[in-house]
This record gives sequence, structure tokens and C-alpha cells, in this order.
Amino acid sequence: MSRNSVNPIAGNIQHIRERITLAAESCGRRPEEIILLAISKTFPREAITEALAAGIRQFGESRAQEAEAKIPHFAETAKPEWHLIGHLQSNKTRRAVELFDVIQSVDSAKLAARISQAALELGKTIPILLQVDLGDEETKFGVTPDEVRGIIEAISDMKGVRLDGLMTLPPYFENQEEARPFFYRLRELGEKLETERSGCLGKRHLSMGMSHDFEAAIREGATIVRVGTAIFGIR
Ligand SMILES: *Cc1c(COP(=O)(O)O)cnc(C)c1O
Repeated sequence: MSRNSVNPIAGNIQHIRERITLAAESCGRRPEEIILLAISKTFPREAITEALAAGIRQFGESRAQEAEAKIPHFAETAKPEWHLIGHLQSNKTRRAVELFDVIQSVDSAKLAARISQAALELGKTIPILLQVDLGDEETKFGVTPDEVRGIIEAISDMKGVRLDGLMTLPPYFENQEEARPFFYRLRELGEKLETERSGCLGKRHLSMGMSHDFEAAIREGATIVRVGTAIFGIR
């Protein structure tokens, strides 16, 4: 896949950007409105340095503990934006709020309250996304569409967090077209919520789509695609 033998990661990124442009233009969207979030979990700092050199400015990590060994390293120089995309344990909340710029994996009002409290203690407001579970079977994380309104109501009173949109992780399908109904439902849910309560989703981000299905997600309105394997290789 890579076209650049000196820095294969740069070649992969260039290729993905081309695919993002094609997918966006195929449905009348502007590619600039789509953020390519490079998921660097399990990859070393050298890989992040290569992605930075190729123009990536936003990275995602799954675990606060792993991020601890990476984020401070770039804090003085490149200063990219860091998104937490994995489940956050309560004893790691404060450190996660210190390290990350955005927390995408908020799946309860209780967690949002803990994040808000930590952010206020640190004198900041942190943007968050609500992780929605649209799967038909119960998965481990994410709020159901029925729970979303109550959680948004609770979050609206929290001063340390700002809700900026929704995130989802559909089941894996061999054919990405099969994931489209899930992406469609997240967008539809976002639109419904905004109609009921204008401004409740802040920047109205829809974080959806990974290496194997980001094009389908873009066609359904993704504003953030989370791409790991297709940039950095197999984990
Ligand atoms: C690992 C991960 C990704 C990236 O997955 P790839 O298939 O490697 O692109 C995206 N989102 C979440 C929540 C993840 O945990």
C-alpha cells in the first residue's frame, strides 16, 4: 500500500487522504471538514513522529496508561491534539483529563461528572463525545439511544465538560456497506437531538469509521474518522 519506502507511514497517510477526498466528493462533501484521527495505540513514539512529519495533527489512544508514555514526549515540541477513544477507568480519570485534549469515550453521566470535576480542579473545560451503542446485541460500552437524552440533560449542568458530539463503534462487517445503517443511525440521532435542543451537541462531531469502513462513514456524515491499522500497520 505504501508508496514511500523511506517513510511507509507517510505513504499510507497520503493514500488515506486520497480515499477520504474521493469518499467526500462522491457525496458532495468537502474533504477539509473531515478530521483524520490517527490511532497510535500499541505503536511506539517513532511511528507518531513519522505521522507528524506527514502532517497528522490529531492522534487517538485507547488507554491512559499507554498514553502516559507518549503524550508528554510531544508536549514541548509538536503539541498534537490527543483524543482518548477507549474506556476510562475511574481511578485514571484525573490523569486522563491532564493528558488528553478530547475524551471521545464517555458512556455514562457518572463518568462525565467525574471528568468535569477533575477538569474544574485543573482549571479547564474538556470537550467530550458521547459513545453511543447502536449494536443490536449488548456490547460492553456505550449508551443506548434511549439513554442519550437523560445523559445530555445531566451533562448540560456540568461546567468542566463541553459536549461536542457523538461517537460510535459498529460491529465488524466484511463489507463496509453493511455498516452504513449504523452510521446513518448515529447521524439521524444527532439531528434529532439538535432539533429537540439546539446547540446540545456543540461542534456536532460524528466520530465514526475505522480502517475498514471509513469511506462508508464519510458518506453518512462522519466528521472524525479513527484510522489505526491503515496508517501504522497490523497491531
Ligand atoms: C483501535 C480503534 C480504532 C482504529 O481501528 P483500526 O481498525 O486499526 O483503524 C478506532 N476506534 C476505536 C474505538 C478503536 O479502539
